[in-house]
Amino acid sequence: MPEVLVCDPIADEGLEILKRATNVTVKTGLKEAELVQEAPKYDALMVRSQTKITRPVIEATHKLQVVGRAGVGVDNIDLPAATERGIIVVNSPAGNTVAVAELTLGMMLALVRRLVPASSSMTQGEWKRSQFTGNQLYGKTLGVIGTGRIGTEVIKRAHSFGMKVLGYDPFLTTARATQLNIEATTTEEILRRSDFITLHVPLTKENKHLINADAIAMMRDGAYIINCSRGGIVDEQALYEALTAGKLGGAGLDVYENEPPKDSPLLQLDNVVLTPHLGASTEEAQVEVAVDVAQQIVDVFSGRPPQSAVNLPPLPAETREFIGPFLPLMEKLGRLQAQVADGRIESVTLSYCGELNDYDTSALTRVFLKGLLQPSFDQVVTYVNAPILAEQRGVAVTETKCHKSEDYANLIETRVTRNDDSHQRVRQVDGTIFNERDPHIVGIQGLRVDVIPQGTLLIIPNTDKPGMIGSVGTILGSAGVNIVGMQVGRRNVGERAVMVISLEEPAPPEVLKQLDAQPDLFGARQVDLR
Ligand code: NAD
Repeated sequence: MPEVLVCDPIADEGLEILKRATNVTVKTGLKEAELVQEAPKYDALMVRSQTKITRPVIEATHKLQVVGRAGVGVDNIDLPAATERGIIVVNSPAGNTVAVAELTLGMMLALVRRLVPASSSMTQGEWKRSQFTGNQLYGKTLGVIGTGRIGTEVIKRAHSFGMKVLGYDPFLTTARATQLNIEATTTEEILRRSDFITLHVPLTKENKHLINADAIAMMRDGAYIINCSRGGIVDEQALYEALTAGKLGGAGLDVYENEPPKDSPLLQLDNVVLTPHLGASTEEAQVEVAVDVAQQIVDVFSGRPPQSAVNLPPLPAETREFIGPFLPLMEKLGRLQAQVADGRIESVTLSYCGELNDYDTSALTRVFLKGLLQPSFDQVVTYVNAPILAEQRGVAVTETKCHKSEDYANLIETRVTRNDDSHQRVRQVDGTIFNERDPHIVGIQGLRVDVIPQGTLLIIPNTDKPGMIGSVGTILGSAGVNIVGMQVGRRNVGERAVMVISLEEPAPPEVLKQLDAQPDLFGARQVDLR
């Protein structure tokens, strides 16, 4: 039987699953040097967040096949080292979903029924019934920003309270919104129309202070905001000001910009419900993550694919040799498509033309999806889990093949269809490699360009007429933004063209606004491919 070392305390239910199929040893609190000695005896290691599976530990092993992390984050495991050795790393991204969703609903109820002040008034010997008249959730509008795993569970529970639900997520398809019985809309609409707003998004560069003073100003007077996702998504200073000025009715927070939020003025308010990052802290969630990961370890030993592997298993040698050079291109195309438009992604179509036609291109599709999804997720999106994440969100992914490309030995056309409130749009970006390894973007919306996908790119659809390049150059130049290169894709004078400008460093938001205000320029998009 395979030997498994459990390095951190995990729920008994997880141990039981392991014991049925493997020999289990539990040794907790091992330091790196001790693990280097111990780990080579095992086929699997299982950890929570305390034990660190470092490169020296991995490199000391000879027969290790799988490392299981009972939880979401895998920062304590050296993923590249594991991948190089072909060791699968599995985690449990969904084990605490229900726990966080229930806390969110708990916060909403606590806020509208004023449970915390009412309870502390009673423990002080008071009986003030009229002072604590509350409101109902029934009939109110809930805005869910981020309709991934936790957002989805919140939506289901909000329906049982009779709430109307609005949702936004870049991966919320129309079909999925219908299935969830919610109205898919934009973040702005959610801010304007909701009585309660709940956030279930990762903390990415773009989501930092997603709820800032401007966003709060758009919200209804007296609305409530709940953040059980990550500190930093709400600007706490702006929130404090809105709560003290009476703009907002209250806030429920489980996560903070600094944890613990020692000197935060929010701690002094009575229209808040605050918990110390307890979202995942239920006994059931601990059991669920342990069972989930133990089952995946057993699956690996029985030759079944694990549900939630986070690293890259090696490709077959022949395929790797031919398609390997296209992998960096695909990731860049995915990242570019993620940034080139707004709206909810409905579907992805990738067409592989030329010699690529003879190979299994699914690895290229996976890497494209990784690039497309990663900016919206804080769990590690990999070659392995990217298609699963897309499928879970109902994004249809189609691969097509064509025998020949007229101009290139190989061409990959990527089309991403997005929906927003008013219409559906398709963005097409095409790429190929030159010299058998250098990635190039060779088409945007069917217009031919030749751009190296690196650094910061400014993509500006425009009318093809004299003076366009000059006006863009002047705006960038007067703002001190240095142009490194420029390409224009066009067909005929007077028709739609596209400029692609490589910048030395990103242009500030005011410059993008200035470009947007120009006639005949149609929405400049800045794309970060650094
Ligand atoms: P998930 O990956 O399933 O869903 C996140 C969703 O957010 C994705 O669908 C993504 O497309 C969407 N998104 C990203 N940026 C967005 C934006 N600007 N607007 C709208 N949608 C956006 O993740 P999940 O498991 O549902 O977790 C959600 C959050 O909860 C994460 O930040 C996670 O770290 C946090 N979390 C907190 C606790 C806690 O203890 N409080 C526990 C678990 C998870």
